[in-house]
Amino acid sequence: MNAATNKGAIRTITKHYIDGAFVDSHGREVMDIVNPTRGEVIAHVTLAHEEDARRAIAAAKRAFASFARTTKEERSEILRNLHKAVSARIGDLTDVMVEEYGGVRQFAGPIAQSGADVFLAAEKALHELALTRSWGKTTVTLEPVGVAGLISPWNANAFFLCMKLASAVAAGCTVVMKPSEMSALQTQVWLECVHAANLPKGLCNVVAGRGDVVGAELVRNPDVAKISFTGSAAVGQSIMRDGAATMKRVTLELGGKSPNILLDDVDLKKAIPTALVIAFLNSGQACVAGTRLLVPKSRFDEVKRALVDTMPAFPVGDPADPKTAVGPMVSQKQYERVQSYIRKGIEEGAEVLVGGEGCPEGLEAGYFVKPTVFVNVKNDMTIAREEIFGPVLSVITYENEEDAVRIANDTEYGLHAFVSGTDVQSARRVASQIQAGRVAINGMLDDQQAPFGGFKHSGVGREFGTYGIEAFLEARAILEA
Ligand code: NAD
Repeated sequence: MNAATNKGAIRTITKHYIDGAFVDSHGREVMDIVNPTRGEVIAHVTLAHEEDARRAIAAAKRAFASFARTTKEERSEILRNLHKAVSARIGDLTDVMVEEYGGVRQFAGPIAQSGADVFLAAEKALHELALTRSWGKTTVTLEPVGVAGLISPWNANAFFLCMKLASAVAAGCTVVMKPSEMSALQTQVWLECVHAANLPKGLCNVVAGRGDVVGAELVRNPDVAKISFTGSAAVGQSIMRDGAATMKRVTLELGGKSPNILLDDVDLKKAIPTALVIAFLNSGQACVAGTRLLVPKSRFDEVKRALVDTMPAFPVGDPADPKTAVGPMVSQKQYERVQSYIRKGIEEGAEVLVGGEGCPEGLEAGYFVKPTVFVNVKNDMTIAREEIFGPVLSVITYENEEDAVRIANDTEYGLHAFVSGTDVQSARRVASQIQAGRVAINGMLDDQQAPFGGFKHSGVGREFGTYGIEAFLEARAILEA
C-alpha cells in the first residue's frame, strides 16, 4: 500500500515532483490535512518554498525546447498513456477524494473517471485541430505558448489536474502544476499515475505549496508564459493583475451563481430531483452548482411541495456511503462560512423551507451543514448574489419568460445555467438569451468537446476540446514574397 492511500495511519508528504522524479522539498512549513468527516488530522504535508517552484520552472523550460517540437502523434501517445495510468487508479483516486475533502462517493467516482477520459477527449480534439493553415504564400502555424503554470482548487482536484494537463500536453506545452495545498493526498495518488505514464522528463512538474508562495512565483516568473487557473474570483483577479508585469496569457475559471430556470410547462417529477442534484453537486461545493432555482409564480406551491417531498432522497452523512448525497464541508472555515450565509438569508427575510442553521443531528464530529432550501428569496438578497459553496438553494419566483431571463442574467457571474421544460423550442429560446458559458437543457449534462468557462466575473477564456488546446497556443504567420 502506498503512502497516500494507507488509511488509518497519519501520512507524511515531503516531496515534490520535478524533472520526472520525487524530490525533497526546500520548504520548512508543515501543514496538517484534516479529514472533514471526523475532524481528525490524517496527514502532515511539507509545503514548498519558492525555490522548489523555481526548480520546477527551470525543468519545464529545459523540457520545452524539445517537447514544443513534438508531432501530434507523439503527443497523442502521451495522452493515451496518461489515460491508461489514471484509469488504473480510479478506485484509489475516489477513496482519497472521499477521505481528504469529504467528496461523496456518488460524485468522486464519476469525476475521477471523467478526469481519465479527458485525456482521450484531448487526443480527439488535437486530431481535429488544424495546427497549420495556409493560403496563397502565407502559412499560419499554431505554436505552443511556452511553459504553463496550472493552478487548481481542492474540489475535484484529480479532474482539474487531468483536464489542464491534457490541454497543455496536446498543445505542446510543458507545465508546472500547483494544486491546492488542501489536496496533498489526492495529488500524491495522481502523481503516482503520472509517474507510471513515463512522460518525458520535465514535461509535468508538480509543486505542492501555498498560493501566495508557489502560485505567486508562477505568476511573476518571466519563464512562465501562461497561467491556467481554476479557483476563486478574488485570486483570479490578483493573477490577472500581477501577471500583467510579465504579459502572462491567462485562462481563469472562477466562481458561479448559476440559475436553473423551470419553465411553466416543466414536469416537476423529473425537474425537482434534477434541480437538487444540480444544487447539491459535490455537497454544493461546485462552481457549476445551480444555486438559484427560478420558478414560475403560478407553480410555486407545487414546487415547494415537490422540494419537501424530494429532499429525503438527498441524505447528508458519511461521504464513503454510496447512498450519501451531501457530505461535510471541506474545512471548519467553510462550515462557518456556509452557516453565516444561512443566517444572513434568514436575517434578510428569506424563509427556510428545509434545513437551516446548525449541524445535522449525529454528525457533530465533522464539518456537516444541513442541506438547506430557501423560498421567498429576492434576487438582490446576499444568498442570491454571492457564491456560498455549500448545499444552499435559493428559490426565486418569476412572472413570465422575459422576467425569468432578466433574473437569470442579473448576476455578476456567468459560468453555467440550466433550463428545464417540456417544449424544447421554448427551452432553446430561453437558453439562447442566457449570459453564461454553458447552458444545459433538461439535465446536468457534460460534453468534453464543448467549451467550458465563464462570461463576466466567472472568468476569462475557455477549457475543454479544441477551445482548451487553443488557449495554450500562439499563432505565427509566415509570409513569403
Ligand atoms: P482559491 O482561489 O482559494 O484557490 C485556488 C488555487 O489558487 C489554490 O491552489 C490556491 O493555493 C491558489 N492561490 C491562492 N492564492 C494565490 C495567489 N496569490 N497566487 C496564485 N495562486 C493562488 O479557491 P478554492 O477555495 O481552492 O476553490 C474554490 C473556488 O474555486 C470557488 O470560488 C469555486 O467557484 C472556484 N472553482 C471554479 C471552477 C471553474 O471551473 N470555474 C471549478 C471549481 C472551483
